[in-house]
Amino acid sequence: MYADRLDNLPPYLFARIDEMKEAKIRSGVDVIDLGVGDPDLPTPPHIVEALCTAARDPATHHYPSYLGLSTYREAVATWYKNRFGVTADPKSEIITLIGSKEGIAHVPEAFVNPGDIVLATDPGYPVYKTSTLFAEGICHPLPLTGENNFLPDLEAIPKDILKKTKLLFFGYPNNPTSAVAPMKLFDEVVEFAREHSIVAVHDNAYSEITFDGYVAPSFLQADGASEVGIEMHSLSKTYNMTGWRLGMAVGNKDIVAGLGRVKTNIDSGAFDAVQLAGVTALTGPQDCVADACRIYQERRDVLVKGLKSLGYDVSAPKATFYVWMKVDDSMKFSARLLDEAGIVATPGIGFGAGGEGYVRFAITRSVERITEAVARMEAMSR
Ligand SMILES: *Cc1c(COP(=O)(O)O)cnc(C)c1O
Repeated sequence: MYADRLDNLPPYLFARIDEMKEAKIRSGVDVIDLGVGDPDLPTPPHIVEALCTAARDPATHHYPSYLGLSTYREAVATWYKNRFGVTADPKSEIITLIGSKEGIAHVPEAFVNPGDIVLATDPGYPVYKTSTLFAEGICHPLPLTGENNFLPDLEAIPKDILKKTKLLFFGYPNNPTSAVAPMKLFDEVVEFAREHSIVAVHDNAYSEITFDGYVAPSFLQADGASEVGIEMHSLSKTYNMTGWRLGMAVGNKDIVAGLGRVKTNIDSGAFDAVQLAGVTALTGPQDCVADACRIYQERRDVLVKGLKSLGYDVSAPKATFYVWMKVDDSMKFSARLLDEAGIVATPGIGFGAGGEGYVRFAITRSVERITEAVARMEAMSR
C-alpha cells in the first residue's frame, strides 16, 4: 500500500519507547518523562496577548504571503543584527518557516537530485536523514564522538563522497549531544562548502538556551557564510512556542529562494497572527529568555550532580535543555530506566548509529521531578 519512500524510512525507535511509556502509565506507574524536547514552561503572557489581539483582526484571516509577513521578516532581521551582528535583507535573505523542522524537511527538495549525497551529523536531529530520503538523496553520516567533543571531522570524509555531496546539515548548540561549537568550526565549514560546492545548512534552534555566561554564535557570523549557506532558526525553544509553529531561514539569497520555491508549491505560509506574535516575541522584552535559562540551569545542576553522585559518566552542558550521558547499551538502559524507575530517557541510537552508547535526558520537568528521578535511579540496580 505504501510508497517505497515510506518503507525506506529508518525504524522509528521513539514510537517503541512511547508504547512502553503508555503501558507503564496504564499499569499505574507515576512516569517521569525526561524524553521529550518540548519545554514544560508556558509561552510568556505578552506573546500570547499579541496573538489574541492579532487573531481578532480580520486582516489576519486570509492566506498569508508565501515568503512571510514583511513585518515579521524585518523583526527577524533586526533580531539577527542585534543578537549576532549579522545583516540580512528581509526581502531576499529571510523567509518565514512553519517551524524550523519544516525548513529542514523541505530544503533537500530544492537542492538534492536522486543519488546526491547529504552529509549529516550522527547522532543528529532525525529530520536531516528523513528529509534526505524523501528527496531520494543518500545520507552520509558524520560521526560525533566524545573524543572529538561531538564536532564533525570534515577532513575524514572520503573524496569520492565529496564529489557527489550537495548539502550539509549540522547544528550547534547540538541536539542531542548538547555540545557547543567554536567559531573555528563555522569558519572551516565555510571553506569546506566553498571548496566542494556544498550548500551548508546550520540548525540553530538552541542558540538562546545557554548557561554559565556562554553566548552561542550564529553560523552567519563566520566570514563568507552567507555565500554558501543558510541558518534555520526557530522561536520554539527560545520562547516556549513549540506548538505555534514559527521559525525562519536566514542567509544566502539563492538558497532562500530555492527553499521558497519548494514552499510556494507545498504550503501557504504561517498564520499572520502567529507571525505578528513572533514580532512581539523578537522585539519585546527578553527577560523571559534569561528567566527560562536560569530555570534550566538549576535543573541541569540538580540532574548532573545527582547522576555524578551515582557514578555515571556525565558532564554539565553549556547549552540546550539536554543532558547526554554515557551508558553501555542505549536501548537496554532506557528500557531498564523505564521498567525499574519509571523514567523516560531517549536512547541515543534513536538519533542514529552514532548515538549508541548514550542516553538523552530532557530537563523539561521541574526540579522536584528531577530530584525524584535521581532518587529513583539511586534505588535502581547498577
Ligand atoms: C526542536 C528542534 C528543531 C525544530 O523546531 P521547530 O519547532 O520545528 O522550530 C530543529 N532542530 C533541532 C535540533 C531541534 O531540536
